[in-house]
Amino acid sequence: MAKVELKNIEKVYDGNVRAVADVNVVIEDREFVVFVGPSGCGKSTTLRMIAGLEEITSGELRIDGEIVNNLAPKDRNIAMVFQNYALYPHMTVYENMAFGLRIRKIPNSEIDKRVQDAAKILSIQEYLRRKPRALSGGQRQRVAVGRAIVRNPKVFLFDEPLSNLDAKLRVQMRTEIAKLHNRLNATMIYVTHDQVEAMTMGDKIVVMKDGLIQQIGSPLLLYDHPSNRFVAGFIGSPPMNFLDGTLKEADGKLLVEGDGFSFAVADIHLEMLKRAPNREVTIGIRPEHLKIADPGQDGSILNAHITVIEELGAEAHAYLSRQADDRENLIARVEQRHGHHIGENIRLTPAMEQVRYFDAASGQALLGVIGPIRMSSRRTAAGHGE
Ligand code: ADP
Repeated sequence: MAKVELKNIEKVYDGNVRAVADVNVVIEDREFVVFVGPSGCGKSTTLRMIAGLEEITSGELRIDGEIVNNLAPKDRNIAMVFQNYALYPHMTVYENMAFGLRIRKIPNSEIDKRVQDAAKILSIQEYLRRKPRALSGGQRQRVAVGRAIVRNPKVFLFDEPLSNLDAKLRVQMRTEIAKLHNRLNATMIYVTHDQVEAMTMGDKIVVMKDGLIQQIGSPLLLYDHPSNRFVAGFIGSPPMNFLDGTLKEADGKLLVEGDGFSFAVADIHLEMLKRAPNREVTIGIRPEHLKIADPGQDGSILNAHITVIEELGAEAHAYLSRQADDRENLIARVEQRHGHHIGENIRLTPAMEQVRYFDAASGQALLGVIGPIRMSSRRTAAGHGE
């Protein structure tokens, strides 16, 4: 059982570099939590503070209720899997996995049992006598995970463990780690810059930027109700489309008007947005919510031409421009066998109920985050937001 709590955690490196500011997260027992954000946002620093590899400047770190700020890494009952595997090249796979246990003076019979069990879970039994150099990247990564499993830790920490693998292996290891989580029933904290990894693996995602938490929530909460423009643009692939406009009341209707478009705000958003008349906004439209308009439709239309079509088989992505110079790019997800072609002028209409509104200046979501930011994850009630 292991609950990890970060309260007002801050990290200031020498030279006054504030890498992490006021991080508050509760990671419930057996939860899989992913910290995600662009390079330099402070996610590795946060993980290393949990591991005890980096001193905490201020704040409280608790594991199962106990404050562990000053506990040595080896006493935290945590195992970390690194991006570069960090295997000992001169040792066999077996010895790499056994090494940490030998240092802890665990009896040989117990070590053997744990190594064999972990090897079985990871399907690496046949490589136990090999040295790391005789393994593929994916196999080495499994050994690195195996070394963590044999420790039987309360908490697993992963620092970008899949970055060195090719795209196909990454997808495979992603599902393997997710399965491992179900099988071991352990608390896992995972750091990545890859939002797809975050979305596919996390019960709960913590989005960071510039050392600050932007939002905490389940993958779909972040996708459907991003708390600000940064989260909206970071989560989702292809990314959300953004258009600048102004909220205007006309003939008893609320419109969002911008360069070459005038969209009628959906009824479900009226209540929230009427409080902000004449406000400069940025609207966010997911590619799947930008539809080809019916021929007779006249309201809420966006005219564009297709600059590129990416055929993905099951669907296609149409890259669109509203300007002759192709500067502005929008992306629409269209059905396979769509029959459209490059250079075609098309009329689009956003699914207005799905459109998100952000304050143009601050980037904060205007609809409020529907469903609390303090939210339930798929697995357990947990976490708290900004
Ligand atoms: P991420 O893992 O999100 O890429 P890091 O946690 O590694 O980000 O780094 C966060 C910030 O702290 C960055 O600006 C980085 O340059 C800075 N930083 C990281 N390690 C050190 C260090 N040892 N000394 C000074 N600054 C550091």
